Amino acid sequence: MKQKLTIGWLYPTLMNIYGDRGNILALQRRCDLRNIDTEVIRLDLGFLENDLKKCDILLMGGAQDKQQEAVANNLFGKKLQLQELIEKGIPGLFICGAYQFLGNYYKEENGNIIKGLGIFDLYTESPGENAKRLIGNMVFETDNFGKIVGFENHGGRTYLGKNIKPFGNVIKGFGNNGKDGTEGAIFKNSIGTYSHGPILPKNPILTDHLIKTALQIKYKQEIILEKLDDSLEQKARLAIAKRLSVGI
Ligand code: GLN
Repeated sequence: MKQKLTIGWLYPTLMNIYGDRGNILALQRRCDLRNIDTEVIRLDLGFLENDLKKCDILLMGGAQDKQQEAVANNLFGKKLQLQELIEKGIPGLFICGAYQFLGNYYKEENGNIIKGLGIFDLYTESPGENAKRLIGNMVFETDNFGKIVGFENHGGRTYLGKNIKPFGNVIKGFGNNGKDGTEGAIFKNSIGTYSHGPILPKNPILTDHLIKTALQIKYKQEIILEKLDDSLEQKARLAIAKRLSVGI
């Protein structure tokens, strides 16, 4: 029987910047190369609970403050359903503004507070309109995926609570807040990160982790993914690492 994965793309119209759409393409491509069928469900404003429940993997991109405001109430209405999937261990990748939403709150640069879903033990605050945005290519070290390369552009600074682990530790770049050296956060099989780029095409180990985890949960069996030729991905990684004078 041919395996199939349903990818839930949360708020693709409003939460999708700095190439985040490329994460969907990377997932589809690496499934396709292994003869795994995929279906992408666009979960836009007002999406149906039943559509969310069909998903094996969740992806959500970043956005400017304005778009985050537009999404906030709608997303909050789906808090319990999303929390249930995340607690159940559905693999998910939440980029920048989406990552901020998983926390307790996000204080925008104009001082307005957007209430978060409170699923991740963290909060985010922008130091204000005149504060420097944290922008640039980044490299960070993770426990399970080695060095991750990406690009960040955010005003918000995120601070992790005691009940959550960072996704990685910054080697080059700013990460969560440009101070404590942490980057992103990881909770069960959900990953929050400031890394746009998009992150998945240049970090195939992460893409494969999401695919493998989703297949194992769906088919309740150990999954070994066929190895792919990642020479192009490796070239892209080396190019960023060279630009940042970091060895990977
Ligand atoms: N608007 C948020 C911030 O500036 C998130 C930005 C983003 O998703 N790139 O921090």
